[in-house]
Amino acid sequence: MAAAVIIIIIALIFSAAMLTGVMLIAWRSFGRPRHALLWAAAFAVATVEWIANLAFRIAQAEDNGAFYAAIAGLSCLSNALIAAGFVQRSRPQAGPAPFLIAAAGAALLIAGAAIVVPHDGVRDATGLLFGGAMMAISAAHVGRGFRTASLPERSVTLMLMLFALLDGAMAVIALRQGIVGQGEAFALFRTILLLLYPPAFIGVGLFSVFLVAADLAETMRTLATSDMLTGVYNRRGFEDAAERAIRNAHRQRQPLSVVVADIDGFKAINDRYGHGVGDRALRHFASRIERLVRRGDLIGRIGGEEFALLLVNTRPQDAVEVVERIRRDIAAMPVSGPDRVVMTASFGLTGLRPGDISLASLLARADRALYRSKLDGRDRVTSAEELEEA
Ligand code: GH3
Ligand code: MG
Ligand code: MG
Repeated sequence: MAAAVIIIIIALIFSAAMLTGVMLIAWRSFGRPRHALLWAAAFAVATVEWIANLAFRIAQAEDNGAFYAAIAGLSCLSNALIAAGFVQRSRPQAGPAPFLIAAAGAALLIAGAAIVVPHDGVRDATGLLFGGAMMAISAAHVGRGFRTASLPERSVTLMLMLFALLDGAMAVIALRQGIVGQGEAFALFRTILLLLYPPAFIGVGLFSVFLVAADLAETMRTLATSDMLTGVYNRRGFEDAAERAIRNAHRQRQPLSVVVADIDGFKAINDRYGHGVGDRALRHFASRIERLVRRGDLIGRIGGEEFALLLVNTRPQDAVEVVERIRRDIAAMPVSGPDRVVMTASFGLTGLRPGDISLASLLARADRALYRSKLDGRDRVTSAEELEEA
């Protein structure tokens, strides 16, 4: 048994050291997120913890209460840093201080049960309960709510919850050891701990590295598909999302409308007030539209001062009303700033037809309707369907 324990501890030392290195590299290469640094620190502390553990075992000082308390303190610190990282990831302004204080408190309790009033059950259970609480807090902070979380976030949440439960169950077994850890409960506790601890530890490590990479991929995807100035989709993002919406609408036999909007006389706004005001006007335009459409509708900036909307589950005759509301809102709301620039925009729209297999044909029809709005004097809404009827 002793030899097996030593081998497992050596494996844990290497795993923890490797995870420290990988997390440091992830931190450096993936945009230096602070939580990755906290996680690297957590694995570094775990490395020290296992080295100390090994050293004491080789020196055969296992029954030393102070030794036990020191190791358990490092374990609490490592767990606390993991949780602090998860909290930092979801709330960037949060610091690790509360977790470090909690870890110190747990370490003191363990020291009390190891040295002052020896009680093996309380001693072991405290460490496990603390670890479980840290995993539970981490799980609670991974996703923005389980249903809206990404697949990587969900998998990490599930894994952390599993480990929190496991830690809790282990704490119950640990308590049953009583004052002096001997007999069946003791043996069961040691065996399960030995079997489950290494995969659990490596699992947390792997998943946290995976999460740092998944976050980077998500950031890249957002950057590639959104417009930096206004925050709505860029042309590519809009096209991708719109093609998906069009396929859905065909499959579910639901209506859908596409709108193209172009700000009137935008060149004059730029020339008169400068590019800064022009940019502010573009942001204003996008944010007013965002307020007036439904969740699930798509907004994209597809050209300099040209925007496209896709209104899901909306027939063109209903889209006209929605877009009229947008047109009136734009014309009535001045752009914030000292100049209080008031602008107007022209709109063209069309509804999905059975022959529209891609966005291109819808955009072409909406564009023709927009051209008519411009010809007819700007600040108006034209639908391709009305044009064809007339
Ligand atoms: P119309 O009523 O016919 O649409 O006239 P317009 O002046 O809006 O049309 P035009 O296409 O001639 O001008 C568009 C202008 O938009 C030209 C360009 O300087 C400006 N523009 C394009 N992209 C940006 C941008 O990102 N920021 C700013 N500030 N201006 C931009
Ligand atoms: Mg224009
Ligand atoms: Mg234009």
